[in-house]
Amino acid sequence: MQFNNRFYQNFSGHYHAQYPMAIQNPRMVCKNQALADFLGFSDDRITDEAFVQIFSGQSIVEGMQPLAQKYTGHQFGSYNPDLGDGRGLLLGEVQAQDNSLWDLHLKGAGQTPYSRDGDGRAVLRSSIREFLASEALYHLGIPTSRALCVIVGDDPVYREIEEKAAITTRVCQSHIRFGHFEYLYHTQQFDDLDKLIQFTIDEYYPQCRDAQEPVLQLITEITLKTAEMVALWQAYGFCHGVMNSDNMSVLGITFDFGPFAFLDDYQPDFICNHSDHTGRYAFDKQPSIALWNLNCLAHAFSNHLSIDQLKQALQQFEPHFIQLYNAKMRQKMGLCEDNPDAKLLISQLLTIMRAQQLDYTNTWRGLAETEVTQQAELFALLGASEESNAWISLYQASIQAQGGKEAARLKQMQLHNPKYILRNYLLQQAIEDAEKNDFNEVQTLYKLLKSPFTQQDDSLYYQQGAPDWAKKLEISCSS
Ligand code: AMP
Ligand code: MG
Ligand code: MG
Repeated sequence: MQFNNRFYQNFSGHYHAQYPMAIQNPRMVCKNQALADFLGFSDDRITDEAFVQIFSGQSIVEGMQPLAQKYTGHQFGSYNPDLGDGRGLLLGEVQAQDNSLWDLHLKGAGQTPYSRDGDGRAVLRSSIREFLASEALYHLGIPTSRALCVIVGDDPVYREIEEKAAITTRVCQSHIRFGHFEYLYHTQQFDDLDKLIQFTIDEYYPQCRDAQEPVLQLITEITLKTAEMVALWQAYGFCHGVMNSDNMSVLGITFDFGPFAFLDDYQPDFICNHSDHTGRYAFDKQPSIALWNLNCLAHAFSNHLSIDQLKQALQQFEPHFIQLYNAKMRQKMGLCEDNPDAKLLISQLLTIMRAQQLDYTNTWRGLAETEVTQQAELFALLGASEESNAWISLYQASIQAQGGKEAARLKQMQLHNPKYILRNYLLQQAIEDAEKNDFNEVQTLYKLLKSPFTQQDDSLYYQQGAPDWAKKLEISCSS
């Protein structure tokens, strides 16, 4: 196995090199075999036992250079200079089968100089949540960090109650966050900021090198990628929950899973983070918060670019977001690109879903499984109201005007409307079992979420909307 350590080599003074603090009596909870194979940790090269030892922090592979990164960021709107990997360690970059480099990051590997009052640990509950969420998003086609495995130990961890320690291995091409740029800018380490910007261009955005203004091109591309990610969150009903700027990846991938949720009923102002008292990170605020975070990043670029240039880059967020969101919603609805009724149909459908408190995912999937002539079924789906009546008529006319075969259209729609999403109440059951050392339910969910668009299970349990009690589950920042 070949390891690289570009962050270690290039940014000394901006991390703390240290070894992981292992968890005791480590047991595998779930493993991403396809990713392990891709990264070169296949069964024929590494025993199960050695794998568990590495990813529970007990041993490291020759060539790895573990370190905790320093960064800062804006949390809930305020600048916090004291952030950094408080419980995570970047182990190094492994070279995958196709020669691409992937960061391996242990989350929950002990205290670091950036832990503040934290214990450096992650609990089993939040580790399972991160593993399943990142894989669920990946298989929905939403840019995200990946998860290699979750390993649980016997070490007690104290949150509201005593819980078990676990370590998740996060995998992505870079762990550079908006907060890394903010840190170097606000501490006036301008030479190193320069170096980080250049490094980001060379290693992750090489296409910017040929632009007339490479730095302007870089922030423009980060803006566009971030808009793309959030457009997909909004289309699939994903609520991140803690969009602090230190949780924003420079790659425009979903990063740092905390109290996230997929919407059950369509409630646009839904707040999934119980600690978010003002609703700063409510579902419908996510696009504008992403732009707000891009502003924080732009501020850190203000020695490199003029205000006008920064504005020019950030102004591309909104039109790009709107275009991608509308395109995805049109696909979800089975409408052609040039369908003149698309915008109206989308907004009216959302209004109906909200008024009737319809399940977001299942309403879309229902439409993708119902021929447009099946009037009674469509009524059953949307509830009886004047608005539904009008919407169904317009939808029918619009689809018929498009022409084409219904069966083919529905098949196509099903590729944009998942049958299975990671609902909090399903997670809850899997977590309760896992806390009793039964990991079967985690495996079952994992298997379903790897093919979210394909019917796999005849039982209704995994595809029905959340029961009422489960809509009130409270998920806090504690993890
Ligand atoms: P997050 O809310 O996950 O983005 O974390 C915010 C900050 O708190 C980061 O600097 C984390 O490294 C740190 N942190 C979170 N949980 C812990 C913990 N249990 N121990 C030490 N640091 C933590
Ligand atoms: Mg974080
Ligand atoms: Mg976190």
